[in-house]
Amino acid sequence: MSERETIVVIGSGVVGLSTALCIQQHLKPSQSVLLVARDFPSDTSVNYASPWAGGHYRPEPGSSPQALREAKQAQRTYEFFKRIAADEPAAGIQFLQGVEHLEAPPPEYLDRQSVRNVYSHLDGFRYLSSDEMPDGVKWGVEYRTYVVNSPVYCAHMLRKFILKGGNTKRYTLAHSKEAFSLAANVRTVVNCSGLGFEDPKSFIIRGQTCLVRNPVSATITRQNTDGSWSFSIPRPLDGGTVIGGTKQPHDWDPNPSPATRSQLLANASKWFPFTPESEGKFDVIQDIVGRRPAREGGMRLEVEKLGNGKQIVHSYGAGGRGFELSRGVAEDTAALMLENGLLREKAVL
Ligand SMILES: Cc1cc2nc3c(=O)[nH]c(=O)nc-3n(C[C@H](O)[C@H](O)[C@H](O)COP(=O)(O)OP(=O)(O)OC[C@H]3O[C@@H](n4cnc5c(N)ncnc54)[C@H](O)[C@@H]3O)c2cc1C
Repeated sequence: MSERETIVVIGSGVVGLSTALCIQQHLKPSQSVLLVARDFPSDTSVNYASPWAGGHYRPEPGSSPQALREAKQAQRTYEFFKRIAADEPAAGIQFLQGVEHLEAPPPEYLDRQSVRNVYSHLDGFRYLSSDEMPDGVKWGVEYRTYVVNSPVYCAHMLRKFILKGGNTKRYTLAHSKEAFSLAANVRTVVNCSGLGFEDPKSFIIRGQTCLVRNPVSATITRQNTDGSWSFSIPRPLDGGTVIGGTKQPHDWDPNPSPATRSQLLANASKWFPFTPESEGKFDVIQDIVGRRPAREGGMRLEVEKLGNGKQIVHSYGAGGRGFELSRGVAEDTAALMLENGLLREKAVL
């Protein structure tokens, strides 16, 4: 009989959970998965990005290798989320209208090919005509997209993982290599730790948003002339509405700024279709500050061979797109593992 093998997945954010579920579909009979993390979905820490995500899907135009790779991952995630929204309503994913209004569109938005690369797969995608756009807006589109209640979706995936036989361990690792010592016979560690371990390319992008009770019917994103962005993201299953938001690279301030909150809410009351009874006032549930785990050049997705049959499969650095890339990234990671003979070809459904 072959020796039992444990695959350790580091990280219980959206990337680690999506990856662990994908890996479970390709396990050899002798393999099991142990999910090790400092934070799990019921936790709140500024360094654990996933529960803070808005999280909606809004493509990012571009033609760079990173933009094109992410576009494919985002497209597969979009198709996957359609199935989850239909089959598993408790997952907290909902499809609805997405609208974008840009006052000073950057060059990549004006390049039709860059836009086609990332938007054309979206159901109902179309450019808005000038008479459909509010004053001051130079570029506008609408399409069918999804919103995710991020803490609910992460908890849902964790439950699925455990019900399929996955094991968990709460532990703070000093290094990814330490994960080889957490179970007997660990040959593969999958590093979905968000920022990675001592990677000089990793950095954080601070995000401040405000969660309010006021409902809104669409997810709308507006780019302002000063380069800042405003967005409204309804959270499925009565989770309120996330109003955002800032993107502040290398800013480690863990405290919400009251001035930022006022600015976010003032913009939201001007531009977003809150129901008339809101009367421009907001019923605030919580100010949110989180750190997006970013990486220069995009995610690290590769197998690092350590010798003696051991390897670390890296999958981290999703920045501000962890939810919208999640399923595509998880499938790419499982495919890398299959190519290297670390899993079995035939999926267990
Ligand atoms: C305000 C805000 C709004 C956002 N909006 C969106 C959005 O609209 N759409 C979207 O797609 N994304 C959005 N994001 C980004 C999204 O949240 C991240 O891309 C995503 O959560 C990254 O997931 P992750 O699993 O890589 O990292 P994380 O969620 O940070 O998880 C990392 C995991 O690794 C574990 N870990 C780390 N170090 C160790 C260690 N040493 N030992 C053990 N465990 C460790 C952590 O405990 C955790 O379980 C937003 C983020 C913020 C902050």
